[in-house]
Amino acid sequence: MASTISIPRRLPLLLVADGILLPGSSMRIPVNSPRNMNMVKSRILRHNTLSSTVIGVVPREPGQKTVQSEEYNDIHPIGTAAVVVQVTGTNWPQPAYTLLVTGLCRFKLEKLLQETPFPVAQVVQLDKLPGQRADDDSDHPVLLSFREQASSLVDLLDVAVPVVAKLKRLLKSLPTSRLLDIFASIVKASYNEKLQVLDAVDLAQRIQKTLPLLARQIEGLKLLQQTRANNGPSALRDRHKNLALKTALKKVNIGDVEEDNELDEIADLDKKIKKANMPQHAHKACHKELKRLKKTPSAMPEYGLIRNYLELMVELPWSKQTSDTLDIRQARHDLDVDHFALDKLKKRVVEYLAVRQLKNSLKGPILCFVGPPGVGKTSVGRSIAHTLGRAFHRISLGGCCDQSDIRGHRRTYIGSMPGRIINGLKLAGSNNPVFLLDEIDKLGRSMQGDPAAALLEVLDPEQNHAFTDHYLNVPFDLSQVLFIATANNIGTIPAALRDRMELIHVPGYTQEEKLHIATRHLIPKQLKEHGLSAEQIQFPEESIKLIIAKYSREAGVRTLERKIGAICRAVAVRVAETQSKAKSTAEGMNDSTKMIDDDEEDGDMTIHHGTELVDKASLVATSEAAITQPPEMPIVIDPHAVKDILGIATYESEISERLEQPGVAVGLAWTSLGGEIMYVEATKMDGDGTLTLTGQLGDVMKESATLALNWIRTHAKKYGIAGKSDVDVMENTDLHIHFPAGAVGKDGPSAGITIVTVIMSLFSERCVSPDTAMTGEITLRGLVLPVGGIKEKVLAAHRAGIKRIILPKRNEKDLEEIPKNIKNELKFIPVRRLEEVLDAAFDDGFPSNLPQTDSSIVPSKL
Ligand code: ADP
Repeated sequence: MASTISIPRRLPLLLVADGILLPGSSMRIPVNSPRNMNMVKSRILRHNTLSSTVIGVVPREPGQKTVQSEEYNDIHPIGTAAVVVQVTGTNWPQPAYTLLVTGLCRFKLEKLLQETPFPVAQVVQLDKLPGQRADDDSDHPVLLSFREQASSLVDLLDVAVPVVAKLKRLLKSLPTSRLLDIFASIVKASYNEKLQVLDAVDLAQRIQKTLPLLARQIEGLKLLQQTRANNGPSALRDRHKNLALKTALKKVNIGDVEEDNELDEIADLDKKIKKANMPQHAHKACHKELKRLKKTPSAMPEYGLIRNYLELMVELPWSKQTSDTLDIRQARHDLDVDHFALDKLKKRVVEYLAVRQLKNSLKGPILCFVGPPGVGKTSVGRSIAHTLGRAFHRISLGGCCDQSDIRGHRRTYIGSMPGRIINGLKLAGSNNPVFLLDEIDKLGRSMQGDPAAALLEVLDPEQNHAFTDHYLNVPFDLSQVLFIATANNIGTIPAALRDRMELIHVPGYTQEEKLHIATRHLIPKQLKEHGLSAEQIQFPEESIKLIIAKYSREAGVRTLERKIGAICRAVAVRVAETQSKAKSTAEGMNDSTKMIDDDEEDGDMTIHHGTELVDKASLVATSEAAITQPPEMPIVIDPHAVKDILGIATYESEISERLEQPGVAVGLAWTSLGGEIMYVEATKMDGDGTLTLTGQLGDVMKESATLALNWIRTHAKKYGIAGKSDVDVMENTDLHIHFPAGAVGKDGPSAGITIVTVIMSLFSERCVSPDTAMTGEITLRGLVLPVGGIKEKVLAAHRAGIKRIILPKRNEKDLEEIPKNIKNELKFIPVRRLEEVLDAAFDDGFPSNLPQTDSSIVPSKL
């Protein structure tokens, strides 16, 4: 490009106050004086020819350089013609431009042709342009000496920096006259010294001016390197000894202030490494890194990386341990105090701890608590840590899909970190904490390796005494850590991990158990959290039952706890308000009185759904008309107050209503959140015999539906539902079966008998008995096979107000686990064959030898 540019005789000038542009170098020039602005606007920005981008950059005479004057009598007579390669502009805080210019050649100012709107001068070109043949003689000894100096300067610089690499290349290719300008512009020199180089039009003169600048820079760099070497690897102590020398140096070189901070930091780390009591291999690694740190300038990013690494190393609890305070009797007592019910779980935990105590080792299976959310899995883990006197740390594995989450990133990355295990140890502060691996069934998998494999290494007692995190890169002994896992669904725990663990199921609570948990644990806990006392608020049993039945329908107690929290919040507002009102009354603001009564029919308390409470009375009080007195303590949360605070009940018993028409039946499903009841609905329409299924179904469910329909087609005649043709129920009929309950995926064979029932109900136009739910797999020949999750399903049915449950005969044994009080409230009907299911599902049975009736006529209730 440069060779196509010629320097015009008339050149617009840009006056620069505080820099010298030499040919071959680039410079950013801020433009804000009016005439310079004019030049940019009316010449550079308006025209887009190449020649319009060529300008003359002229310095001011020394001594005048700080003055932003618009006078032209202090312009230096020699300037640099330059090409503008970039213009950037801003309007804020005031309009200004910045030009990026590259110097082309020197020129001499002959005459100022105009001063406004911007200066233009008549000029004479003094140097050759880049690309034009230069006439310097590279064999001349002075030129050779310059080239030598220049290459030794480049050698002192870091060639990894792109500019230095470029400089090295230019050194080989450019003529000396141009190199002189380039080197003169990169070395540190004063305004006057650079101005002298600009003035040196003659080559010999230019060499004479440039060589000393180069020599000075080389000297300076060498000195700096030497100081660094002295401060280097072997001599931390020497550094302290040389402090006096360094203080002297500091006066010369400001950069050393930073070095002193560095020095303190390194000495500090050294001390910490000694104190960290780490094993030999870790100690060695630390020292190696410390050596690197001493060699690295603090401005380099590596410095921070090494320092972070060392800080983690010294913080890790290599040999910090809490001593176990295990007393089995106390452990049993602690678990009982903290948790109601959960007998099986508590028994197994106590056994586990007892064995650990006798064997004095942690080898053995890892306990894994499996159950729906909110059944106390985490909280049992915390109790175990408490009873052992160990630190507790929870590692949530939900969504963790990268093995570096567990094992850390290698330190080659910027931003690399240790994995969750090492991080957890740092936070726990001892090397024998209780680690709760939460939601181990939600481990993901991705391209970045399988986190389950990394966890396997963590949990394997044969390997975990030397667990190597990628970031740490030295083994850490995890053998003293007590691992406990939790999961909602065993199906999704990676098989290899499942093998290592002993699964303990926590199926969920009955209504009765929830009532006890609420009274003994949740309410006292929530009162404490909200700063309330039993003298201020009371929950009668009927209210708790109401919250359990109508405001939460879950296997655990998390929503229940949240609802109790909402009530406590509302009451806390009330108590706080009345306290402040009482205060202002005491100050004699008002004298009339008005009682606030929760139970008043018109409700002084207006409660918004959820949590907030607005006290109308308080509004009245502030209107100066009336005054309230504190409500009588304790505030009793009776069912009215529950409704006021929590709003409309979330769950109403709807079973009988929904079962009022043919084509609906209640099935029981198992999900990872516990058991659930599921309304299965069927409808038929004219068509060509198509079966449609909707409601997020898996393949197994679809197969069950086909099986069910085919069994019914086979037995339609026998049951008198065979349609007009008296042969096939599906003739000219389409069937649609829907499994509502939202986006929850449903799969599994256990809905088989429900589907048969619902289709039979639809075709016979008879309603299924109210309050009846069912579960069971079917075969094509009409046998009912056992299914899983009976306990969860029964609990869910009981929660929903079901009274009768039809279940496979071979599942009868599972009923033993169900608490007696629930068994007493439910009627179980064990069945072997589909015929028995139908007999049980419909009020007056479903006899199979009915005389055939004409299509849709309802069979008589025999
Ligand atoms: P999970 O880990 O199973 O999801 P959490 O341990 O977080 O459940 O329990 C939720 C809340 O319920 C906690 O406040 C816990 O103390 C309480 N909780 C659960 N089960 C019981 C129980 N059996 N006795 C007392 N509190 C319980």
